Amino acid sequence: MRDGINAYLVDDVLVDARTKWAERTLIRALSNHEVTAHALTHVHPDHQGASAAVCRAFDIPFLVPEPEVETAESGAVYSRMPASPIGWLQQHLWVGPGHSVDRALVEGDIVAGFEVVETPGHSDGHVSFWRERDGTLVLGDVLVNMHLLTTRQGLHEPPGLFTSDPVMNRDSARKVAALEPDTVLFGHGSPLYDGEAFTAFVASLPEP
Ligand SMILES: [Zn+2]
Repeated sequence: MRDGINAYLVDDVLVDARTKWAERTLIRALSNHEVTAHALTHVHPDHQGASAAVCRAFDIPFLVPEPEVETAESGAVYSRMPASPIGWLQQHLWVGPGHSVDRALVEGDIVAGFEVVETPGHSDGHVSFWRERDGTLVLGDVLVNMHLLTTRQGLHEPPGLFTSDPVMNRDSARKVAALEPDTVLFGHGSPLYDGEAFTAFVASLPEP
């Protein structure tokens, strides 16, 4: 599925690692690049699936949002997600093994020239990565740029089924929209190069 589940190489840091089925594809894709670290926006099965394999293959440190370190190390990802049959299926089909974390990420940390912005809600410890110099925001799953069933392009809030606290997530969307990004890279869906469309969408979300 094109842009269905994304991983990004920002400078020499891999952000997110898709599902465990992506292990070989990711390792092959990265083998011609310098990769010095692997960071996660959040510890869900469609983002941490290949994390352990990639960290081992390239012998690189694993960087995880501070509140989700324990989950990343144990691999008990589903226990931290809203209970649902689909979540249970993801745990069994997509989740990768736990892997020891080398650095816990908190607000203001710098990763490959990007600043860590805490954006909790979709998961307890969700973070985004922000580079003010060129207005680039690696958003994670605060919003998605595709309909997750039809795969049609378009901005949406992430499904409530996979979102721990939708109200908090909406606050996080407002927090990153206030940065006025020019380019937004999503966990799901293609990149958005229209910052105004992003901020307008967030402004249109109902107040709690
Ligand atoms: Zn996701």
